[in-house]
Amino acid sequence: MKFRKIEDLELEFKTVFLRLDLNVPIENGKVTDDTRIRAAIPTIKKILEKTNKIVIASHLGRPKGKINQDLSLEPVGARLAELLELEVLFVNDFLTESIDQFANNLQKNQIVLLENLRFWPGETTNDSTFADKLAKGMNVYVNDAFGTSHRAHASIVNVAEKIKPENRAAGLLIEKEVAALSTLKINPKTPFTVVMGGSKVSDKIGVILSLLDHCNHLIIGGAMAYTFLKFKGLKIGDSVVENDKMGLVDTIFRNAESRKVSIHLPIDHVCADSFSKDATAVKIEDENIPDGLMGLDIGEKTILNYQEVIRESQTVLWNGPMGVFEWSQFSKGTMSLAKEISESGGTTVVGGGDSVAAANMANVSDKMTHVSTGGGASLEFLEGSQLPGLKILSI
Ligand code: AMP
Repeated sequence: MKFRKIEDLELEFKTVFLRLDLNVPIENGKVTDDTRIRAAIPTIKKILEKTNKIVIASHLGRPKGKINQDLSLEPVGARLAELLELEVLFVNDFLTESIDQFANNLQKNQIVLLENLRFWPGETTNDSTFADKLAKGMNVYVNDAFGTSHRAHASIVNVAEKIKPENRAAGLLIEKEVAALSTLKINPKTPFTVVMGGSKVSDKIGVILSLLDHCNHLIIGGAMAYTFLKFKGLKIGDSVVENDKMGLVDTIFRNAESRKVSIHLPIDHVCADSFSKDATAVKIEDENIPDGLMGLDIGEKTILNYQEVIRESQTVLWNGPMGVFEWSQFSKGTMSLAKEISESGGTTVVGGGDSVAAANMANVSDKMTHVSTGGGASLEFLEGSQLPGLKILSI
């Protein structure tokens, strides 16, 4: 997919609507992790080289169309001001006060940040009247919110539609995401291994089926592994299982066989008798899990098997933890694979959400080729769906 980039835009004297993903954790009015704000800085600085008339918009959390001061973007504005060494004018009521008034009166060292878009229902319903308010007086539209680009929301689609196609572009983050994720589908270096984990097969079925056309190995861990093991007739005790998804698992096995993709499943487990933070870990050195126990991590032999496959790989995509990594007694599988992937020497891509948190916990994020900022968006992109936010920018 080709789309316009910032360098293709004429920006001098123009007012830019910049959609970012500034959805960061906030506690007691302070940003506790500014990774996403920092990630947006290169795009803001690139636009600032040509114009300071920038109106930044983002969502934060899920206020469901209602004003909720705990989810205000004001603390984000304060952090943005520190990082950019600029004044950030915070506009909290852009429905009654016209945004272009603020933009037109900006001094050289000022930019605008709007309040959380999702305080208004029109954002998530892609409402045209709401989008009119946002687009008023804007000459240029830049989207750098990759993680939200799979949502047809007003600031992602409708506002863009109100700006001429030649004045719309993707920011630097989107450029980087699309380049990194595309390499997995366009001639990835082989062997290419997909490491899938997490809670549900149903969430990942589309991406698994699509990647079976490109990869050589599919490693399965996390809760979803037990649905695969049960399908194969193994005992899974009280582990999490999606009994209604056996048909999907059958399709995955058939497709893998016809495409000569090897599927790797756990051969031993770390279990517990309850799903609880304080549960005692019980090692089961067999594929079968007895009744009364549930699998919460992959076992030692499985770790060794999976590490060997990863070591031989030239490309690795990792999405989803191998176990309940949030609890230390069930984190070894995920931590060991995170380390192995980071040391594999090939192209390594971490696909969003919990795997990013796990890679951070293992202290290996900066050793990966690419850590995606968008969980759902990166999965949909890899699945081959046209993301609404990218489609509107395409040329
Ligand atoms: P997902 O959002 O689908 O990637 O799932 C991530 C969640 O799956 C994490 O919160 C893990 O704790 C959880 N998880 C991983 N393995 C298991 C397991 N064996 N049983 C229950 N939950 C798990």
